[in-house]
Amino acid sequence: MQPLKEKIRQEGKVLSSEILKVDSFLNHQIDPVLMQQIGQEFARRFAEDRITRVLTIESSGIAPSVMAGLVLGVPVVFARKRKSLTLTDDFYEAKVYSFTKQETNSIVVAKTHLTEADKVLVIDDFLANGQAAEGLIEIVRQAGAELAGVGIVIEKSFQEGGKRLREKGIRVESLAEVAALSEGKVTFVGDNE
Ligand code: 5GP
Repeated sequence: MQPLKEKIRQEGKVLSSEILKVDSFLNHQIDPVLMQQIGQEFARRFAEDRITRVLTIESSGIAPSVMAGLVLGVPVVFARKRKSLTLTDDFYEAKVYSFTKQETNSIVVAKTHLTEADKVLVIDDFLANGQAAEGLIEIVRQAGAELAGVGIVIEKSFQEGGKRLREKGIRVESLAEVAALSEGKVTFVGDNE
C-alpha cells in the first residue's frame, strides 16, 4: 500500500536491525487519514469474506481495526492484556510472548464478544514472529468461530511469523512488507525488482 510505505520511509525510525519505530503515525500519535486508508484497504481485501467481527489486541491494533470495522460495518473486539488472571469461565484466554517487551502476558476476550457464529478478521499493527497473531487465532479457535484471515499493517518479512502462519494455510494480508532494516534504512519487499 503506497501511502503507508511512503509514510514509513519518511517517518519510520530504524532502532535496530529488528525494530522499526512508527510512533508518529501508528504507535503513539495516530494519523487518522492514513488509518482510514488502511481500514479501507483491509475492507477491500476481505470484502467477499462475510466478516462479522474484527479481532485485535490492545493498544496499537485498535486504530486500524476500528477503521476496518467501520468500512466493513462490523464490531471490533480488542483482546486485553493481563499479567495474571483470576480463573473464570467468562473469558477466552491465550498466552502471548511479547517480541518488543520480552515478556509473556495473557490476552483475554470476554465470551460475550465472540461466538461460534462469527467469521473473524484478525488485525494487528506489526507481524514479527507471529506470537500476537497466534494468540488471537487461538482465541478464535476457543470461541469456535471461523477465521477469515489475518490483516497486518507492517509485516517484517525477515522474521518468521508470516511464514509460520502461511504454512498453516492461514491467509495473511500485509499492507507493507519490510524486507530489511539496516543502516537506518527501510527496504520493502519488491524494492529492487
Ligand atoms: P510478534 O508477536 O509477531 O512477534 O510481534 C508482533 C507484536 O510485537 C505487535 O503487536 C507489535 O506490537 C510488536 N512489534 C513487533 N515488532 C515490532 C516493531 O518492529 N516495531 C513496533 N513498534 N512494534 C513491534
